Amino acid sequence: KPEAVVLEKPAAQLSSPVAIRNRERVIFPESSITKGALADYFAQIAPLMLPWAGSRPISLVRCTQGRAKKCFFQKHDAESFGDAVRHIGITEKVCHEEAYLYIDTPEGLLTCVQMGTIEFHGWGVRIEDVEKADRLVFDVDPDEGLDFEAVRSAAFQFRDILASIGLATFPMLTGGKGVHVTAPLTPRADWAEIKDFAHRLAKAVAQNDPEHFTAALPKAQRNGRIFVDYLRNQRGATAVMPYSARARPGAPVAAPLSWKEMETIDKPSHFTIADGKALAKRATSKALSGWGRADQSCPTFENRHL
Ligand code: ATP
Ligand code: MN
Ligand code: MN
Repeated sequence: KPEAVVLEKPAAQLSSPVAIRNRERVIFPESSITKGALADYFAQIAPLMLPWAGSRPISLVRCTQGRAKKCFFQKHDAESFGDAVRHIGITEKVCHEEAYLYIDTPEGLLTCVQMGTIEFHGWGVRIEDVEKADRLVFDVDPDEGLDFEAVRSAAFQFRDILASIGLATFPMLTGGKGVHVTAPLTPRADWAEIKDFAHRLAKAVAQNDPEHFTAALPKAQRNGRIFVDYLRNQRGATAVMPYSARARPGAPVAAPLSWKEMETIDKPSHFTIADGKALAKRATSKALSGWGRADQSCPTFENRHL
């Protein structure tokens, strides 16, 4: 009796917890990257990503026809994602509840990818209590024409200022133009306190160094400076999640860094979805152990140093 022949899976195709349709569809036309390659990246990175993107309200950047076509920022479940993408009712300003999305499994994450998602953005809260922030994020947004050296030096200034008031921070390349400097928080302060603190800090930084920073919203007022986007720190605002892909040329990803690595990294789109393996290896390295973790609170107005 002949032995059963067992075919190996094609090497490139990792096992995904969700069936991905149209794997061959090119969604990053500049670099011929397919939906299948994106799904493989997310399947590989899911265990690293879920501690951050999981169990918090998320918004998705979906580009069902690829990044060069129309993309949309989706907060609610307009159609059914099925059971793996879960719902959380959150009260809106006008006192009625809306169903926001969250995921807590690789199945949920890959379902979003199957539905055309490229980017995952998260609120600064976990689903257990959406009124208490678990992070402050300073989104360092360079004006057109500023090089990465300016972004890097701004990020280090934020690190030092926040350290001087007792907050440990962690940098992340956005995969776009800038860096996010994040201070994790033990959820205690409510959104009013968080927003007020972030706004006052941004204004103080801009006042101390008006040559390099502005906290003013209009793009026309940037004049070659870094915009300190403190508005990530309000109820309902999101920031791109660690390890999320970006819908930008070449499929870059948002990548956590150590401050040491920040000294030498060349650009915010340094890592792409082709680096899944390297990112997974880095995540367990000494340089990144403890990244994004600190038991600390938002300084209150009473003991402010600003
Ligand atoms: P970059 O480094 O290029 O600035 P970024 O992710 O910080 O990348 P921003 O344009 O500064 O991009 O946006 C900051 C955050 O605002 C995003 O990470 C996202 O969570 C949120 N955001 C972006 N687009 C929208 C949108 N259309 N609606 C609501 N929020 C958005
Ligand atoms: Mn930004
Ligand atoms: Mn911004």
